[in-house]
Amino acid sequence: MIVILFGPPGAGKGTQAQRIEREKGLVQLSTGDMLRAAVGAGTEMGLKAKAKMEAGQLVSDDIVIGIIRDRIQEDDCKNGFILDGFPRTVAQAEALDGMLDAQGLKLDAVIEMKVDDNALVDRISGRYTCAKCKAGYHDTNLKPKVDGVCDVCGGTEFSRRADDNAATVGKRLEEYYALTAPVLPYYAEKGVLQQVDGMAGIEEVAAQIDAVLAA
Ligand code: AMP
Repeated sequence: MIVILFGPPGAGKGTQAQRIEREKGLVQLSTGDMLRAAVGAGTEMGLKAKAKMEAGQLVSDDIVIGIIRDRIQEDDCKNGFILDGFPRTVAQAEALDGMLDAQGLKLDAVIEMKVDDNALVDRISGRYTCAKCKAGYHDTNLKPKVDGVCDVCGGTEFSRRADDNAATVGKRLEEYYALTAPVLPYYAEKGVLQQVDGMAGIEEVAAQIDAVLAA
């Protein structure tokens, strides 16, 4: 199964993609995570992406399309994958169609997580991840069961993203509405677009997504 989780930064795409990976064996493909890894490793691609990411702007289409083209050919993607943060422009969506066609694959669903802009700044500025396994948490909405200990791997070190600050969030939302939201009609026309209420609690959102995946 091939699924796209779609929505603005802070909509909960990463949280749900990680859950689906754990529960259903689809691989989470987060272009944001892959770019952060490239920045951390100091690769040529990372150096190109770093300034854009810090400014809350999109990285160029050719870079992210190249990342996904290579990644979906790896063995672990054979049972299906869930795209989290890709595509983010119509050009990326068109390129994805071309890649899937070339491999004889079909996109099953695009799930839009609908959220109020007002909630996003709070969601983004409160979030953090386990430094070891990358499980996601939030200062108020999703705390580890034991304070300071990751539920998934027992890690005790956590990190916050450099771009998860109020100043950058505004730019990221601008980019979303200018460049990413226009992808929605593209998928609506293809008849694959579904919506869930991203303002509901994590369990309820999960149930709505699972109902789409089961259909
Ligand atoms: P994310 O972790 O999905 O919020 O992405 C973090 C940042 O990585 C974004 O603000 C962009 O700068 C960059 N990025 C991630 N995915 C893409 C993409 N599909 N197209 C362009 N830039 C991306």
